[in-house]
Amino acid sequence: MPNQKPLNLKASLALSEPTSSRLPPPWRVLIVDDDLEVHTVTRLILAKTVFKQRKVELLSAYSAIEAQQILQTESDIAVILLDVVMETENAGLLLVHTIRHDLGNTAVRIILRTGQPGQAPEEQVIIDYDINDYKAKSELTSQKLFTAVIASLRAYETIIALEKTRLGLEKIIDSSDSLFQINSMREFASGMLTQLSSFLDCKPEGILCIEGYSNTEEPLDTEHLCEGLEVVAATGRYGDCLSCLHTLDQASCQHKNMVMHVQNALRERKNQFDDNYTVLYLETGEYKAITALVHSEHFIDEHDQRLLAVFASKISIALANVIHYQKMISAEEAATTDFLTGLNNRRQLLRLGIPLLAGAHRSGAPMAVAMLDIDHFKQVNDTYGHDAGDVVLKHIGALLKERFRRSDIVARYGGEEFCILAPQLEPELAFELFDEFRYALAMQTIEALKIPLTVTVSIGVTTVLCDSLDEMISQADDLLYSAKQAGRNCVVIS
Ligand code: GH3
Ligand code: MG
Ligand code: MG
Repeated sequence: MPNQKPLNLKASLALSEPTSSRLPPPWRVLIVDDDLEVHTVTRLILAKTVFKQRKVELLSAYSAIEAQQILQTESDIAVILLDVVMETENAGLLLVHTIRHDLGNTAVRIILRTGQPGQAPEEQVIIDYDINDYKAKSELTSQKLFTAVIASLRAYETIIALEKTRLGLEKIIDSSDSLFQINSMREFASGMLTQLSSFLDCKPEGILCIEGYSNTEEPLDTEHLCEGLEVVAATGRYGDCLSCLHTLDQASCQHKNMVMHVQNALRERKNQFDDNYTVLYLETGEYKAITALVHSEHFIDEHDQRLLAVFASKISIALANVIHYQKMISAEEAATTDFLTGLNNRRQLLRLGIPLLAGAHRSGAPMAVAMLDIDHFKQVNDTYGHDAGDVVLKHIGALLKERFRRSDIVARYGGEEFCILAPQLEPELAFELFDEFRYALAMQTIEALKIPLTVTVSIGVTTVLCDSLDEMISQADDLLYSAKQAGRNCVVIS
């Protein structure tokens, strides 16, 4: 037993060399022995050890209970050099049990060093206790100790790397699963930045850009670094990039460095890692390439770089799905929607209207079909220009959407003609409804490119069910003609 405890834990930690944040962390080795001499000698032997560019930091505990306290708070101890006989005959062996079972630490390598092999026979101990090496102090030369510690560090490194890979892959699977559920590009992009930051264990500060059309063969134009980059999502310090219009001259841009990294990833077509940035290059097949940059503040080691490559390739597939989905949606929209007003187009009106009319026939429910035409619209175009005319068309489209029920089908039928299918509309109420619309529009002033305009419409409405929708539309068109004949700005119904 030592007669005095020369160092407490804090003091012994303070003895180890200060580590700069840029240096890899040291291997931490815990000496557990009640003999002060053992600590001194071990420190002499191991103090200058460097293994895989990492120094060794030595911690000291003078009893099993003290060792347990250290292990409870320090989770990254790689190797324990453990004495057997300390406060009790088998304090060291009991500590092994505590470490493996109570603390659940299966990674730390334990080298048992006993001065009394008779107390803890090697064969029995190595079978009964989860230790990794057994040494009698008498046979443990400095060379043998050194070799045993290095072998243990190597084993510990492998165990930690495997565990990190397992956790990393788990995270990748979890995050890509959730990203596969997303269909909107913006949601995907911000979800991905969040996942990436969580993987790198850093603040969610990043940006996701789509490659522009810049020529990657030519040298980078440092005056126009952002040229051709489309920002899809940006968080944290890069938030302002979302609304940036590239009007700043490069000297005033805060993010030159970041953009440089993004451009490099796009040009070299590969992931980029440095002390501050992690940039993933995502190839999306037939679509444009995408980069995701996260401000990581520490260098990503080779192991994590490999995991991130797996992440990037999985995410690329999910991303291509999102792009594909968006294209499908916009193609479908283009086929069914009038691009100017956003209303249904004529084709969609017929597609939706035919089953509606069939339903009305089956149930005997009423249905009204109305044709609406802007009065003297040619004059608007001729006087104020086609663009002002477009504003009027959009305004009327919006007003129709606002005033009719969601169950009604409102469409731009062509030119300045609109068609409304109103199922379940009682004939007695139909006139009132369309006339109210006519009146409301006539009372409004439309701001068409700073020109205040008023327009009126003529409306023909039929409430008599015909066999086909075409017939009903044609009826309504005839009634619209009557409304025009009657002097315009009125509703004619049958
Ligand atoms: P009426 O009261 O008899 O309906 O007279 P009108 O001038 O409205 O009728 P006309 O059929 O003579 O003219 C329709 C005009 O609508 C002509 C055309 O240029 C315009 N027009 C059709 N489609 C568009 C469009 O998408 N944008 C604009 N600005 N004008 C359009
Ligand atoms: Mg007209
Ligand atoms: Mg017309």
